[in-house]
Amino acid sequence: MVKAENVHKSFGHVEVLKGIDLEVAPREVFCLIGPSGSGKSTFLRCINHLEQISGGRLSVDGELVGYREKGGKLYELKDSEVALKRRDIGMVFQRFNLFPHMTALENVMEAPVQVKRESKAVARERARKLLDRVGLADKAGNYPSQLSGGQQQRVAIARALAMEPKLMLFDEPTSALDPELVGDVLDVMRGLAEDGMTMIVVTHEMGFAREVGDSLVFMDEGVVVESGNPRDVLTNPQHDRTKSFLSKVL
Ligand code: ATP
Ligand code: MG
Repeated sequence: MVKAENVHKSFGHVEVLKGIDLEVAPREVFCLIGPSGSGKSTFLRCINHLEQISGGRLSVDGELVGYREKGGKLYELKDSEVALKRRDIGMVFQRFNLFPHMTALENVMEAPVQVKRESKAVARERARKLLDRVGLADKAGNYPSQLSGGQQQRVAIARALAMEPKLMLFDEPTSALDPELVGDVLDVMRGLAEDGMTMIVVTHEMGFAREVGDSLVFMDEGVVVESGNPRDVLTNPQHDRTKSFLSKVL
């Protein structure tokens, strides 16, 4: 579903991704861990067309991200083409970024109506089902300010799902939450995984990575240091940098 081959990304003279190679299979839950500044968010942002890679190849569902290939040459995609591709990828951030002046239901309806020009009736029906799926059927009429952080994050997940993405990216979705609210959000993500959603999850929740993850990658300073089955990597890390990182977070 996602294939990165020697992906590089620089901001000016600073190289943040230094040749990332990895592959995410359909239906896989792919967890990404690593210290602050190692490039995790940047990598997700590249997948989601929020940043253009500076070298290598990155593809989603067999199609290059950000470029079109013709006659062996790469051409940058137009904004309209990028917008179309971004519809297929859902992203959930550390901060929930809900529209404050809209109810939970309206937040979930917004993109299908505005971006896909779907009828409000159809969008509302789906939004109700999605809010039910994230355990918030009774909060449809609440504004974000009337929801807890964990509830807001579950609305944010429902909102991303409303576009019926083929890939979901999560960037530390629980790290801004009070500890007692983390479990409900992880349960929603676990449910998504069970339903077969392909997910890339940047997280510090090692329990989630161990129980739900199919693969785990440890990144440091813009490179993949170690990857494998989450249980193996977490219980028997091979590299000193992985060991040192895990000793701080576990
Ligand atoms: P954290 O765990 O703190 O979220 P991260 O692994 O997600 O860290 P990134 O946010 O990807 O790290 O940042 C990697 C590096 O890239 C950092 O040194 C950061 O300062 C730099 N960086 C990220 N975005 C930009 C930008 N737009 N311009 C310049 N440098 C940037
Ligand atoms: Mg980050």
